[in-house]
Amino acid sequence: MRPVLKAGLRVVWRDRDTLQLGVDPRRAVALSGMSDAAVVIPLLDGSRDWDGVVTAARDAGISVKTVQRVLGLLAAAGALSDLPQSTLNTLAPVARGRIGPELAAASLTYGHSDGGGRTLARRRLAFVRVHGGGRIGTALAGLLAAAGVGQVACRDGELARPQDLSPAGLGLADLNLPRADGAARVMARIAPDVRTTDHGERPDLAVLTEPARTELAAELTGAGLPHLAVAGADGVAVIGPLVRPGRSACLRCQDLARSERDPAWPLILAQLARPGDGGCDTVLAVTIAAQAAVQVLAFLDTGRPGAAVSDGALELTAPDWQWRRRSWPPHPRCPCGAALASGSGPLMSIQPSGMTENWKGER
Ligand SMILES: [Zn+2]
Repeated sequence: MRPVLKAGLRVVWRDRDTLQLGVDPRRAVALSGMSDAAVVIPLLDGSRDWDGVVTAARDAGISVKTVQRVLGLLAAAGALSDLPQSTLNTLAPVARGRIGPELAAASLTYGHSDGGGRTLARRRLAFVRVHGGGRIGTALAGLLAAAGVGQVACRDGELARPQDLSPAGLGLADLNLPRADGAARVMARIAPDVRTTDHGERPDLAVLTEPARTELAAELTGAGLPHLAVAGADGVAVIGPLVRPGRSACLRCQDLARSERDPAWPLILAQLARPGDGGCDTVLAVTIAAQAAVQVLAFLDTGRPGAAVSDGALELTAPDWQWRRRSWPPHPRCPCGAALASGSGPLMSIQPSGMTENWKGER
């Protein structure tokens, strides 16, 4: 074991004898009898094994018995993590330096005792394909790369335009490039160890930053590929749904529900297929990218979508800037079959193998 103090928790003293780890009452732990811990705490950075910590503390004048008592108290309080060195060794030195906050946040989020090592290992093996390299897609790709996702690729047939620039994404030097290449350059700047290649392998998750491209959504659903819809237009951010084909509501389910409320929706939807960033300013784009990154990472880390974007979406509207969830249950007439799987719809006779073609034909 290479003990490391649970990362992400600030270390403060309540008095000379009581050490408090964390400030937020939802995570904080107070330990008494820690008057000799001041020398030991800085040694718990994951660079030494248990014996190494004892030796270093002894060299600083702390008895072995005291060190073991401090370590025992910290371990009993769940304040120690065991960061696997083998996980860190898979990273380039530059990545090791920047991944610390990601590990700390993951360790706190999931309560793992490995300092985020398991989460990092999952992310390193993951492949996310982002469709659309505009200001949202590029910023999202950069965030995922920085968060430790091993392979992130951007697909886009458009050239980068001045309105694609954003502080978290494309810079001036990236203009006049295909947007996918611009996204790759952004990732190379942020996380040079991430793979940006895309040879058509099956990703673990796709992200659609232009969800009105219904043929692409249908293709992903037909292939059984999980995908997250992300949109910013008319000054409104929409993150979700995260579609697990055949298991949760898809974008076609959403369109069918909308069409029942607004008969003109299919005609409107057809006109939205053209790429555009109308009403999505820089701050909104970066906010969307950050919330989308949260949902992508939750899916990669746990293997299931966050509750907020399963059969629903998160929406944000100026000027109150408060996230709200809108529910989009599976639609009984959608050929994706999610309504049947969830038990909320009638039996349908559509065969999964023909789903994609049937769906495309419906447009
Ligand atoms: Zn559906």
